[in-house]
Amino acid sequence: MPQVKFVDLGRQYELLREEILEEVDKVCRKGDYILGHSLKLFESAFAEFCGVSYAVGVGNGSDALYLSLKVLGIGPGDEVITAPNSFIATAWVIAHTGASIRFADVGEDMNLDPISVQNAITPKTKALMPVHLTGRIAKMDELQKIADENGLYLVEDAAQAIGATYNGKRAGSFSNCAGFSLHPLKNLHAAGDGGIITTDSSELYELLNKYRNHGLKNRDDCDFWGINSRLDTIQAAIALIKLKHLEIWNKRYQAIAAKYSESLKGLVSVPTHANHESPVYHRYMIRTEKRDLLQSFLDKKGIETKVNYPVPLHLQPAAANLGYRKGSFPVAENLCKTILSLPAYPELHDHEIDFVIETIFEFFSVTS
Ligand SMILES: *Cc1c(COP(=O)(O)O)cnc(C)c1O
Repeated sequence: MPQVKFVDLGRQYELLREEILEEVDKVCRKGDYILGHSLKLFESAFAEFCGVSYAVGVGNGSDALYLSLKVLGIGPGDEVITAPNSFIATAWVIAHTGASIRFADVGEDMNLDPISVQNAITPKTKALMPVHLTGRIAKMDELQKIADENGLYLVEDAAQAIGATYNGKRAGSFSNCAGFSLHPLKNLHAAGDGGIITTDSSELYELLNKYRNHGLKNRDDCDFWGINSRLDTIQAAIALIKLKHLEIWNKRYQAIAAKYSESLKGLVSVPTHANHESPVYHRYMIRTEKRDLLQSFLDKKGIETKVNYPVPLHLQPAAANLGYRKGSFPVAENLCKTILSLPAYPELHDHEIDFVIETIFEFFSVTS
């Protein structure tokens, strides 16, 4: 048993247990399970939180991205450009529309590098899908400019960035459609799988409402073949309770990150950000050439850490047909070898943070 777990979901549940059980009970008593009242409430609260007109709850974050691409009409013959240092879903959602995945390298911020994106554009490119990795928003001013100049759609993979801001605007408000995940490991989560899409377009909103519900426009009439991917009313009710706490939780993520960075900056490379950015530190990632040694040292001391993610998407066996190789994206590949995510979640205790910091100091005093 680790002394400091990477995440301890039980702590948050204890805090909200009564409120959650009460809301779940209400939904069950009414049998309001599918497309119910709390889903509507959550969708409007979420749209307001992100500063957009509409939000549509779906089955998970991957479907949120997949449906975003589908309603924009992306399909066979098209190309979508995204980052190679992300979770698997970022790639498969593109592949499953029938479009081709094009990767571009990332910058020191770990997010899409605008110059590399510019170089990856071809006449077939239809959309850019930046990933706001670790809860830090990609360089949206430059990416928006590239999208405008080349007539491309923008879809944010905002799965890790709920509440993050860039030039004062929140994640999910920079693109045609943005996909968020409510997976239990994300800053705002349900009690299982869940996802939500934000958009400012009433037209896309109407399409998304149908697409997630078989393509039905009413009980019996189907405009096109959709899929079944709706956010359960129970999950929406739980997420709505948590949304009220999100700003406080995100501040705690930021405070934990500040404490780690202040203490560790002389030993390892720590995340930084500019004044116009406010990342939410879904992951707190340090970088060091001694990553593997440090990780096993921490493990022996009872501190659980993760690598998000060790294998870049373009080097996955699933990507073999795309024609990339080792060396295609040097920055992303180097990140995969040097990054380490430390325990960082709102309910983490100060003495646990201190223990992680002390143990990292101990590692560097014995190895250097
Ligand atoms: C979590 C995540 C997803 C997928 O979300 P699910 O809800 O697990 O389907 C997609 N992209 C990124 C970057 C993620 O972190």
